[in-house]
Amino acid sequence: MTEMIPFNSEQFLILVVDDVSQNLQVVGSILDEIGYATTFATSGEQAIKRVKTAKPDLILLDLMMPEMNGLEVCQSLKSDPLNQEIPIIFVTASNEKEHLIQAFEQGAVDYVTKPFSVPELLARVKTHLELKHTQDQLKKALLELEKLATTDSLTGIYNRRQLFVIGEQELQRSYRNNRPLSLLLLDLDYFKKINDLYGHSIGDQALILMAQTTLKSLRNSDFFCRFGGEEFVVILPETTLSEASEIAERLRFNLAEVSLFSQSETISFTVSIGVTSSTPSPCAFDLLLNRADQALYQAKHQGRNRVVTYQLTIDH
Ligand code: GH3
Ligand code: MG
Ligand code: MG
Repeated sequence: MTEMIPFNSEQFLILVVDDVSQNLQVVGSILDEIGYATTFATSGEQAIKRVKTAKPDLILLDLMMPEMNGLEVCQSLKSDPLNQEIPIIFVTASNEKEHLIQAFEQGAVDYVTKPFSVPELLARVKTHLELKHTQDQLKKALLELEKLATTDSLTGIYNRRQLFVIGEQELQRSYRNNRPLSLLLLDLDYFKKINDLYGHSIGDQALILMAQTTLKSLRNSDFFCRFGGEEFVVILPETTLSEASEIAERLRFNLAEVSLFSQSETISFTVSIGVTSSTPSPCAFDLLLNRADQALYQAKHQGRNRVVTYQLTIDH
């Protein structure tokens, strides 16, 4: 997991928007003193342009400006998903309070009234920067957690858990759209020997090489995961059984071509592959795995380094 980065004012850029440049100077110097980076705009149009180029972390927005007022600026910024999450604090004269309801409706997070007290301004700025900072960190942590939960740590490809999620989805989709779907189960041949002869870490490297080589041979729409140990599964949407067998042959060939090196030795390996496709009437995803496993068993039984396509006669 990434470490939580502590709050540090210097890492934040604040955009101050006001049509009176004297106001910009006052607010700018208050923020500068604390260490915030600042950038300025003297009109609504300029503010919108500046947001695009400078990507500020927070905006102090004057409510009353000629031409485009603060409310319009806020509305325009909030309509763009890229800017939606930038906190906006309105700066208003006390006689403009009736506009504040609208400001909050447009997505403002807070306001300060002019003439403002410096500690209050700074407190509000800090609160909203911290809040945004914490939310960003949480989002990042969630993404990382999701990645951890769905990927295999050794090879970086999807894991078994994700196979069942995607497998069910793809299978249902294939029935809904009346399209074929195929599945390959790959198993490295005599993998135990690689571990025994060269050590576990070379075994790990073989698994990584296996994953990388396979990934390169697949389409973006294919799903590839480590099923466990030295077994891997490929889901091939929009693919008939005979097409899947050809793909499996190509994979088998490509994998037999690659090798890794341990001291002076060149190590290569082969795979056996079981191939199956979805049945004409809806079946459970487990059934496909089970059929591919039976085909794989046959491939091993027949001498390994081969592709076997599941036939109904294999059942039982
Ligand atoms: P077969 O041709 O019948 O598939 O024989 P095999 O030796 O490949 O199969 P077996 O199931 O007997 O052995 C698989 C080995 O894979 C045993 C296990 O220690 C090893 N293995 C499983 N996971 C890992 C891993 O993450 N890293 C390494 N280095 N080895 C692993
Ligand atoms: Mg094996
Ligand atoms: Mg195995």
